[in-house]
Amino acid sequence: MSVSASTLRELHRIHRQLSDLRERKERGPKLIKAREANLARLADELAKLEAELKAARVRSDQKQLLLKTGEDKIEGLKVKLNQAASNREYQALKEQIAADQMAGSVLADEILEAMEKIDELAAHIAEQQKKIAAAKQEITKAEESVRAQAGELDQEIKRLEGELQAAEKDLPADFRETYQRLVRSKGEDAMAEAQGEFCGGCYQQLTPNNMAELHGSLAIFCRNCGRLLYSPEDRTPGAG
Ligand SMILES: [Zn+2]
Repeated sequence: MSVSASTLRELHRIHRQLSDLRERKERGPKLIKAREANLARLADELAKLEAELKAARVRSDQKQLLLKTGEDKIEGLKVKLNQAASNREYQALKEQIAADQMAGSVLADEILEAMEKIDELAAHIAEQQKKIAAAKQEITKAEESVRAQAGELDQEIKRLEGELQAAEKDLPADFRETYQRLVRSKGEDAMAEAQGEFCGGCYQQLTPNNMAELHGSLAIFCRNCGRLLYSPEDRTPGAG
């Protein structure tokens, strides 16, 4: 089967460009997906921080309530102290008040710590919200640029598909099916230029028989990778 090297070279060029364009087209949505995953991660972190803040506020409120209850109790004890009937009762009340005041002071320290923690969390949340806003902006920007590029890439792909169809007409009719099958399964790797005595795709050494066929512009396939090989030079079919 005689196939000109220039036809195969042209077809290979078109397939390479097409697969490059298709890859570039796929890259856009992938980029957007990666940015969306990033946003989802930031939102998750924010939700955790918000839950932490809520829990910290509940704990702080509980402690404040405890403190208030303790203070009320101390006030009550002080009233009793003034009305103490015996020295023993007076002493006991005094000790009780001192103990409760100590407990209250520990609680007050804990409340202060809890408030600091709340402030910290609130600051962290504000920062996280800024990151989320920026991530959303990035997605919008990426979507716009991908949309603009997709239009251009589609046009270019369409143009090349037209070129491909035209170039495929130069293939012998009885060879087209073999070629199509190869292209369907291997894409741009369906073909390779011979480099000296080697397959340009996998660098398998070609047999002398292969070389003779190649120079004769016969369709040959690498016995290792199965690529359709073509010569780097143009020869008239049958002249080799
Ligand atoms: Zn090969």
